[in-house]
Amino acid sequence: MREKCGIVGFYSLSGANVTPLILSSLEALQHRGQESWGIAIEGHKPYRKLGLVPDVLTTKRRIVGKVGIGHVRYSTIGRTTLENAQPIQIGNKFSIAQNGTIVNFDTLQNILKTNFAIKSYESDTKLIGLRLYQLLKESEWLEAFTQIGKELLGSYCLTILNNRCEVYGIRDPRGFRPLCIGWHEPSSSYLIASESCVLIAIGAEFIRDVEPGEVVKLSKDGFQSFRFAERVRHYHCAFEYTYFAHPSSCIDGVCVYKVRKNIGRILAKKYSGWGDIVIPVPDSARPAALGYSEVSGITFEEGLMKDRYRKRGMMRSFIEPTQTSREEIVKKIIPITHNVEGKDIVMVDDSIVRGTSSKIIVKLLKRAGARRIRMVVTFPPIRYPCYMGIDFPTQDELLAYKLCGEESDINKINEIVGAEIGVDQLGYNDIEGLVEGIGLPKDELCLACVTGDYSCIGGKPKFRSREELKDKW
Ligand code: SF4
Repeated sequence: MREKCGIVGFYSLSGANVTPLILSSLEALQHRGQESWGIAIEGHKPYRKLGLVPDVLTTKRRIVGKVGIGHVRYSTIGRTTLENAQPIQIGNKFSIAQNGTIVNFDTLQNILKTNFAIKSYESDTKLIGLRLYQLLKESEWLEAFTQIGKELLGSYCLTILNNRCEVYGIRDPRGFRPLCIGWHEPSSSYLIASESCVLIAIGAEFIRDVEPGEVVKLSKDGFQSFRFAERVRHYHCAFEYTYFAHPSSCIDGVCVYKVRKNIGRILAKKYSGWGDIVIPVPDSARPAALGYSEVSGITFEEGLMKDRYRKRGMMRSFIEPTQTSREEIVKKIIPITHNVEGKDIVMVDDSIVRGTSSKIIVKLLKRAGARRIRMVVTFPPIRYPCYMGIDFPTQDELLAYKLCGEESDINKINEIVGAEIGVDQLGYNDIEGLVEGIGLPKDELCLACVTGDYSCIGGKPKFRSREELKDKW
């Protein structure tokens, strides 16, 4: 079971109760996980629930404290059960929550086998916790982090609350996933959070991003920083910028909204031509559609709306755990007939993974009377599985690979995938357009799902089928 989620950690120097702040922060990270949520507050066992983060905590227990951590979960593999929710308590020493995926899961299992009865479906977060527990018998926290930093391969941002009332925030040496530090003046709290949108939501100040290979400690002494792993090449996940992260967030100095709008502008230059209106597939493609409209001169319109008034209508489809629930959410998108009827439409989407959502949306638009549909996509064709935390773990389910294999001519890929989805014309972004839009050097990005180059994890892993993954986790 492997995760791609959101994490937070708080320490109030004035002794303010951080529980409501943690809940608000998790709400602000809901786009990173909507399957379950959990908090661990000093002196209390972790409290975890399935579903969305509530506004207020409705429990008979009074869960208050000046220090705590929280987690929202989106599983890449593994069932949506309460058992799999985080934070996870490890002995009576600490609670741990993670955002990421460990690649060398088997190595960790083998190291632990001598001391623990490890079940095959154990989560990588639990294994990291057990390994730390093992190391802490003979070492202090920083030494334990240094050792585990040598052993773990993959993407991991961790938050830990220990029985000394200290919070740790850790970012893996390659920095696939974001993590930042903030200060909340009203409660005199230092905090760490997966994304800076949390700081905006709760009125906290941004201090800085946690560096890859850095561990941050929040305690009565304020915030301290240590290095647990050598600096290596940075591998920012390109997908965070185009889809996953909140548009109001800045990751390592780069504004997510700005990236998306830039890419829209780039796509407008690449694929110019017909269109009465340009519409986004809600919600992540909206800035890109604005950028496309700005450069092409084609009017921006809303042609598809998420029905926020219906149960689950506002949820994100891609991060749902099953194909059925993903499709259910996409079907709740409503076309605005008045805007699309009889029109030639340029539809902007962030990516095509399995293609099922795109097909549903194209049908909805056609039913609403759209005359012609051209689709432009901000992320290049995804043909290789992600083992660093995003849920496209098997190659067979990736539409661009299924239809085009290793074909390198982008025009041919556009033609074949476009026909399958049912649009009149398709225009994928290419790697150069993606890199230019993000604005970071190409050699600081992870592009494995586009290029098949897995040097970020030391080489190509063995690709597995969904069935094989189910057996394993
Ligand atoms: S493989 Fe793709 S989705 Fe996975 S970390 Fe790299 S860029 Fe992100």
